[in-house]
Amino acid sequence: MHIRDIFAQDRTTLSFEFFPPKSEADSNILFENITQLEELQPSFVSVTYGAGGSTRQLTHDLVARINQTTQLAAVPHLTCVCHQTAEVDEILANYAKIGVSNILALGGDPPRNLTNYQREDDSFQHAGDLVRFIRQFNATGRHPDPRGFGIGVAGFPEGHPGTPNRLLEIDRLKAKADEGADYIVTQLFFDNRDFYDFRERCELAGIRIPIIAGIMPVSTASGLKRMAELALGARFPAPLLRLIQRCETDPEAVKRVGIHWATEQCRDLLDHDVAGIHFYTLNKSDATRQIYQSLGLRDSLAVRRR
Ligand SMILES: Cc1cc2nc3c(=O)[nH]c(=O)nc-3n(C[C@H](O)[C@H](O)[C@H](O)COP(=O)(O)OP(=O)(O)OC[C@H]3O[C@@H](n4cnc5c(N)ncnc54)[C@H](O)[C@@H]3O)c2cc1C
Repeated sequence: MHIRDIFAQDRTTLSFEFFPPKSEADSNILFENITQLEELQPSFVSVTYGAGGSTRQLTHDLVARINQTTQLAAVPHLTCVCHQTAEVDEILANYAKIGVSNILALGGDPPRNLTNYQREDDSFQHAGDLVRFIRQFNATGRHPDPRGFGIGVAGFPEGHPGTPNRLLEIDRLKAKADEGADYIVTQLFFDNRDFYDFRERCELAGIRIPIIAGIMPVSTASGLKRMAELALGARFPAPLLRLIQRCETDPEAVKRVGIHWATEQCRDLLDHDVAGIHFYTLNKSDATRQIYQSLGLRDSLAVRRR
């Protein structure tokens, strides 16, 4: 099922993101968490893609295992960095073979560990080029669904650091939608006003596809620093930082603050008719389950149902 088919039936989508574990032990822990999260009946789940090297096969393997062993629809992420056309074609063909229905098409962050890496040598310079290529693949009829893959793209409510010109940035996001993207998933953010403003700017630019809000609860004080590094440009509101500063020597309290903040963000997003909420789970299940509980949701059906 394409994500756009899910949007046709769900009033609001709730979805979860995982990354491929590197060891057997971590993989088993992840699957225990996936089993618990499956009870929440998300609209779909997604699996991130590493920048180069062996971790890339792990994305395929995790997507295949989720598809084989659960009822969940898994969406693999795919990036432009470190790829040539033939490789992407093969990856798409392998996903088509195992019945994957959607791809999240991304630029990708340049790998930190590869020396002499030249971004210009990659076949696709921007996510829009990858969206176009997936559409071309779809036209070859090599996917069991005659429409081929559904396609998602990334959006940045507070702007992407690579394009400080915010008007130009929205034009480029519009170009990705025009290339054939079905939906947008956003970078994490902590102040919903940034998301609402982004949503309005997209609407003014004529972007008509659903925008799913990316939510990541702060779980540790050190995790906050990693989030700032991963989501360059993301704003950390002073009230959130003040709350964390008050309790930073008490890990349990930091976790409670992070979950409370994310819960309030989700409540407000649902009150403002968000198209969907995508939880960056960090492969854990407790924070997401606690947010559901505080929202009064036994599972996702209460918000998914029209
Ligand atoms: C929901 C989500 C999931 C993610 N998952 C992953 C993952 O699994 N693996 C990973 O490596 N990274 C991931 N990322 C990070 C992402 O790949 C990086 O932030 C990347 O720098 C931007 O990706 P993009 O898809 O927006 O790229 P693009 O759309 O290519 O944009 C990148 C930059 O290029 C500019 N640009 C776009 N089109 C053009 C054009 N035609 N001409 C000139 N400039 C242009 C944009 O304005 C922007 O500044 C994810 C990000 C998000 C929000």
